[in-house]
Amino acid sequence: MRSAKLVSPKKITVYDNEPEPKTGAGQVLIRVKAVGICGSDVHVWHGERPDVTLPRVMGHEFSGVVEADSGKFKKGDKVVVDPVVSCGTCVSCKRGNPNLCSTVKCLGVQVDGAFCDLIAIPEEKVYRFPDSLSFVQASMIEPYSIASEVIFRGNPAKDEKALVFGAGPIGLCILEGLKLKGLSVMVTDFVDSRLAKAKELGADCFVNGKMEDLAQAVKLFTEDFGLDFTVDAVGNPKVMENAVEMAAPGGRIVVLGFNPVPAQVPELFLVRKELKVMGTRMNCKRFPEVLAWFGEKKVHPDAMLSAVYPLSEIGTAFERIAADSDNMLKVVITL
Ligand SMILES: [Zn+2]
Ligand SMILES: [Zn+2]
Repeated sequence: MRSAKLVSPKKITVYDNEPEPKTGAGQVLIRVKAVGICGSDVHVWHGERPDVTLPRVMGHEFSGVVEADSGKFKKGDKVVVDPVVSCGTCVSCKRGNPNLCSTVKCLGVQVDGAFCDLIAIPEEKVYRFPDSLSFVQASMIEPYSIASEVIFRGNPAKDEKALVFGAGPIGLCILEGLKLKGLSVMVTDFVDSRLAKAKELGADCFVNGKMEDLAQAVKLFTEDFGLDFTVDAVGNPKVMENAVEMAAPGGRIVVLGFNPVPAQVPELFLVRKELKVMGTRMNCKRFPEVLAWFGEKKVHPDAMLSAVYPLSEIGTAFERIAADSDNMLKVVITL
């Protein structure tokens, strides 16, 4: 089978005669059809992730077809995969939080992923998707699972005012999820084309933080009350510092971006406003909710699709993203 490996930073080699994976007990063999390139894949490609050893088959946002009957799956079923790799026996796993497993990994990051023809996956991480979705669309279910987790963690209420920092693919998925829950959503980014996409996807207000005064815009947007719900999908310490300052009394802040430089957060804001600040990591069994969003056409994955390349051109795809990271949203590889 074919397999695309990152052999050194910025160098992906596609091998033609790789051994097919052996399917263990409780595993499903899947023929991969479409794999999205995630921002984290691009970091790995640049050689910026010390937790990743090379060579590595990247790719964790994917859809495919079941290759042989196994357990509850039949040959030909169209499926997507929750990429959280967990042990199933540690305290967090037993408490129902596989994404907090003591040895948690993400497929395609710390272990080999889906830029290859065949992959064996534990049955409990595999979900069928409806025929109404294409493989490319279904490959975008995983990024929406990140949004679903953010919303589950922060538990926003209808009619609250939210701000999403960052209008990359994940920020846009979060915007869509928050609109589904009935919030008014402001989006901020430094790139106008991304803000235009946020507008297309239903943002009530958008601010270019480079050109405009964000604090002033938040005041107007929230009638001076502050933000009920803030999401940091950027990972810059300044974002967290701004978020606690601009939060409303009782506000919640969900953090999924991170940066080696710590933010300086005055406790005063946390205490006076009884703020809740929470982290979110990958997703915790959010695929069923996202499959419902997709099945009912409540979200618009096509809007963030920038390009599709065959596996043979995977190197070109990464180079194009690196060369135009501002304007490239989701790029998908087909097999
Ligand atoms: Zn991802
Ligand atoms: Zn575990």
